[in-house]
Amino acid sequence: MELRHTCLSCGGSCRGARVTLLAEERARIEDLAARLGVPEPVVDGRLRVVDDACVFATAEGLCAIHREFGASAKPAICAQYPLVALRVGEQRRIGIDPGCYTAFRTWRTGERLEPAHMLMSSGSPDPGLVQLEAMLLGLLAAQGWRGLLVGLVRPGFESRWIAALNTLRLSELLARPGTSRDQSAGLAALATALPGWTEPPSSTPLDPELDAWVTEVVRRMIHLRLAAGVPTPAAVALLVAGGALALSWVDPRPECFAPALAAWARAVRTPQVWAKLLPSPEALKALAAGG
Ligand code: SF4
Repeated sequence: MELRHTCLSCGGSCRGARVTLLAEERARIEDLAARLGVPEPVVDGRLRVVDDACVFATAEGLCAIHREFGASAKPAICAQYPLVALRVGEQRRIGIDPGCYTAFRTWRTGERLEPAHMLMSSGSPDPGLVQLEAMLLGLLAAQGWRGLLVGLVRPGFESRWIAALNTLRLSELLARPGTSRDQSAGLAALATALPGWTEPPSSTPLDPELDAWVTEVVRRMIHLRLAAGVPTPAAVALLVAGGALALSWVDPRPECFAPALAAWARAVRTPQVWAKLLPSPEALKALAAGG
């Protein structure tokens, strides 16, 4: 599949995240920081954060290193973003992070990315796991995210999902120090709506392009294993597709839904979220199948 993306300079990737430097690039970044007049850029091997943003992020949301010295001067992980790479046995999986807040706007029409040398993490090559991922990805390709959801859960899921989401106390989670403003903004409407739901709200269907985007987000999350720690790829699919369902109940307009889904795709990577929704294999079964 083609990798298409254009950075719209929203600055979202430079807020709410702490960039870890490679040991060999630390001196170079400290030198650039000195030339930019940025004091103490590195703390514990990571770029210092000031008021939710990387120490190099400018008031306009741009990267000062990029602006003054070019894209290739940035730390390797930043120069690579939004590409993500994973090695699973002999297989190289390379894709685009669906947690980029503007990815929806350019996923079909953006520049074609040609990955070269990539920083790559490694994942388990366990054949059972790889087979399960392939099966879920095949189902997604054939039936889209709603079809996959129907395949994974039994009737009554929507009410069980609302009850599970309410255990999250999303408003409190979003108010924690360290939660990025973009993530809080993306999920604020969901946090406000949740406590008022007892039954599934009636929903307006997503437009076809947005619907296809949800399928793509679930696909990327499974293929790139972007929710490390979530017990199974089926659980990842359930978390992401369930989140999309709830967000579509809140506001299906692309300009609200797409950044909210990106924020949700980031949120389910944190144990504070997934471990509350799926605290045990039994809880996962009860959520999916009832009983
Ligand atoms: S170094 Fe630049 S690109 Fe990387 S997080 Fe900081 S501001 Fe963003």
